[in-house]
Amino acid sequence: MKSLKETHKIRMDYTKAREGMVREQILSRGIRGPRVIDAIKQIPRHLFIPEALHGQAYGDFALPIGEGQTISQPYMVAYMSENLGLRGEERVLEIGTGTGYHTAVLSHLCGRVYSVERIRSLLEQARRILEQMQCRNVMTRLFDGSHGWKEEAPFDAILVTAGAPSLPRPLMEQLKIGGIMVIPVGSRNSQRLLKIRRGPDQFLEEDLRECNFVALVGEHGWAKRERYDPYSPKDYL
Ligand code: SAH
Repeated sequence: MKSLKETHKIRMDYTKAREGMVREQILSRGIRGPRVIDAIKQIPRHLFIPEALHGQAYGDFALPIGEGQTISQPYMVAYMSENLGLRGEERVLEIGTGTGYHTAVLSHLCGRVYSVERIRSLLEQARRILEQMQCRNVMTRLFDGSHGWKEEAPFDAILVTAGAPSLPRPLMEQLKIGGIMVIPVGSRNSQRLLKIRRGPDQFLEEDLRECNFVALVGEHGWAKRERYDPYSPKDYL
């Protein structure tokens, strides 16, 4: 059993690690939005990842979360969130709940988050921790998110945290006029992070940067791989 003092010390260390992460990985790379910074400072990222990796929770890299999936590098979470330009009242659709970490960040930044995940075990774990964190403005669904969430559409913003081969039509349709979607599009191994704005009669596309996400697997994404491929285990499920 850890003594109370020890437990307290460990908690303090995580807070320190998180402050260091914000300073060295996020502020130093030009993320300035006070609301995004504040959300990332507050949310205990380590609680979203497997316990064996808690010591690496505030490192400058993506981490495995089980089922061949990954949680994004903290900077990427901040960068994508900042690009959505949220003010506090929006309805946001997230595709790829994963651990629920990015969902929790969004829940601090907007009015309501609708998050879709296709792997049951990940979603169940994410639901548990989101409840524990008292993120009450989050709704989740086990589904192929390449279809979006038609019953709750349209959305002010859409965040896709898995790489698509092309822009999924249902997601474009479910974006409000004036809304923004941030989505990685490219090959299975490397994508461009795109920012799509829906204007009154056209979509404007901005290429933000290179990125590397796990595959968006679904009808409007990549086909599921039927056989285990040791070189791309992340696309197997
Ligand atoms: N944002 C997450 C990381 C997500 S990794 C976090 O903060 O932890 C990408 C996630 O997208 C994986 O969990 C994967 O299972 C999920 N995913 C892939 N294709 C999907 C689809 N069609 N619908 C819903 N989720 C999908």
